Amino acid sequence: MSYVITSLCAGVRDGACVQVCPVACIHDAGEQFVIDPDECVHCGACAVACPVGAIFFASDLPEAHRDAAEFNRAFFR
Ligand code: SF4
Ligand code: SF4
Repeated sequence: MSYVITSLCAGVRDGACVQVCPVACIHDAGEQFVIDPDECVHCGACAVACPVGAIFFASDLPEAHRDAAEFNRAFFR
């Protein structure tokens, strides 16, 4: 389980999370940024840096954003 970027990122996409990620596992997926779940080391820095609170630990995803975990993972397949 890792941190996950939700669609709340779309429309903002400022890259603040990319700047603070120590393992460079956040990528631009077009409409939003996404996190590689196999590389994320769960530091939480991206969640703190995000200006719109778009990033959650997978088990803490709000009900409306549960599909975000699979969306992030699918980008890296
Ligand atoms: S939790 Fe840490 S390692 Fe994982 S994506 Fe965010 S900044 Fe990168
Ligand atoms: S910091 Fe938040 S809004 Fe900015 S690119 Fe990352 S997830 Fe998107």
